[in-house]
Amino acid sequence: MRTAEIAGAGLAGLALAAGLGRLGWRVVVHEAGEVLRSGGGGLYISHDGLWALNQLEQGEAFRQRSFAPRGFETWINGDLHRAHENDGVFRTALRGQLHGLLVEAARNAGVDIRTGVRVAEVEPTGSLILEDASRRTADLVVGADGVGSGLYAKLGLERHLVVHQDGLIRALHDRRDLPAGRWEASKDFWSYEGVPLRILYSPCSSEHCYLVMMVSAQDTARLTLPTQAELWAPSFPMLSPLLERAPLETRVDRYSTIRLPAWVHGRAVLIGDAAHAMPSSHARGANICLRNAVKLALALGVTDDIDAALAAWEAEMRQPTTDDQKEAEHLAFSRSLHRGLPEIDLDDLVPSNMKPVSIEQG
Ligand SMILES: Cc1cc2nc3c(=O)[nH]c(=O)nc-3n(C[C@H](O)[C@H](O)[C@H](O)COP(=O)(O)OP(=O)(O)OC[C@H]3O[C@@H](n4cnc5c(N)ncnc54)[C@H](O)[C@@H]3O)c2cc1C
Repeated sequence: MRTAEIAGAGLAGLALAAGLGRLGWRVVVHEAGEVLRSGGGGLYISHDGLWALNQLEQGEAFRQRSFAPRGFETWINGDLHRAHENDGVFRTALRGQLHGLLVEAARNAGVDIRTGVRVAEVEPTGSLILEDASRRTADLVVGADGVGSGLYAKLGLERHLVVHQDGLIRALHDRRDLPAGRWEASKDFWSYEGVPLRILYSPCSSEHCYLVMMVSAQDTARLTLPTQAELWAPSFPMLSPLLERAPLETRVDRYSTIRLPAWVHGRAVLIGDAAHAMPSSHARGANICLRNAVKLALALGVTDDIDAALAAWEAEMRQPTTDDQKEAEHLAFSRSLHRGLPEIDLDDLVPSNMKPVSIEQG
């Protein structure tokens, strides 16, 4: 029986674990956290993520646990500038719902998930070394330790890391008392009257929404927790009911881009944000993590030659991933709030396959 040892029970590690488990591999996932969880409100899942979930036979379960916002609206200085229909292009979900689904999928595929176990090193010989110095060997060892990855360094890799200049707060809210109808669409609010600010409102279940509140990373007053409603609400009067109440969950973040010269090193592989983090200006990071993890499992399922499968997978996935990173970086940079008023190309703000609707209808 083939074996894999994976560091990190995030979306990428779990998707790969579920995929390999379904192929009959014996898989152990080591998660540093004491509990299995994924914080940060919600997230957008579009074609790549949906494709990956379907491959794991989780498409229907995801549909049931996720939400289909009615559309995507772009507001600038309080005026609605563009409205697009969401005709099956994207769904939103609470992160915990998607994470929980992948935990179940992995466990149902026989994967052993261990919490409170920090991996110190992955080695190209196919060894994974735990913090207590114990060594575990497998046909494949995987670093899926996220954007804060330390495992790449142990492989002697030079990592290219860009930390972007906007800071953001993610705040999860109960939205049950918002008026029905108009709050069923995602709303992207940009304010250039005064300090440039942006808040993306996303409904992510029938009961929840999350706000991503963005400002220059230098603006530490606005990036403080608990959120300072008086510094945000004047620019976003429509959002006052949410901004003036305590969120269910908040966290502060920066976007990063990570590039590595290679993802495969003998029998050690880096996947997910650890290998190719990108700013979520297109809400694609997790989608790419899921797609690439499932593609890796599929590549390993069609041949007994593990080394050939790893090489074929990396050769196939590098270019599309690089393209996604470039596009996400371009968007993040060109509209970065720390640069002040950008030349906003409104048509770049939404996926090109979404249908515009007239503002009267929107
Ligand atoms: C503000 C924001 C909004 C976003 N919105 C979207 C969106 O809408 N759509 C989208 O597609 N993407 C989005 N993303 C990107 C997405 O969140 C990430 O791409 C994705 O979560 C990365 O998954 P991962 O499994 O690689 O890493 P993670 O989810 O970070 O998982 C890594 C796991 O490894 C564990 N770990 C770390 N070190 C070790 C160790 N040494 N040993 C064992 N375990 C370890 C961690 O505890 C964690 O559980 C967003 C990102 C941000 C910052």
